[in-house]
Amino acid sequence: MMDCLFCRIIRGEIPSKKVYEDEQIYAFYDIAPMAPVHVLIVPKVHITSVNEVTEANSKVIAHIYEVAARLAIELGISESGYRIVTNCGADAGQTVFHLHFHLLGGAAMNTKMC
Ligand code: 5GP
Ligand code: ZN
Repeated sequence: MMDCLFCRIIRGEIPSKKVYEDEQIYAFYDIAPMAPVHVLIVPKVHITSVNEVTEANSKVIAHIYEVAARLAIELGISESGYRIVTNCGADAGQTVFHLHFHLLGGAAMNTKMC
């Protein structure tokens, strides 16, 4: 999508600190980290949110989790623990409407889920 922030980051039109990339997904450091390790993992195809995940496009979600597990090892948080979060819609506080998964770790987190 032309004016989507994360589509523009994926295309390299806006700079980002890349952590991982393949033909399906792109991972980069969050610009305003909320944990010592805060990486965003996004599908290259524009999907607005979890609301738009269907049987036709859901394979990339499994791939994101496979890569997240590998990145957690590489980033040194697989043993200490981490959280993978995706916000969907206004009540969840979604601000960028291109599906993304926050990979958060490196310190003990608030145990409250919301
Ligand atoms: P959301 O609130 O939609 O779940 O998460 C959006 C995330 O994108 C936020 O954590 C925010 O800090 C991050 N973000 C917003 N703009 C940029 C940007 O231009 N570059 C990077 N790397 N992260 C961004
Ligand atoms: Zn997009």
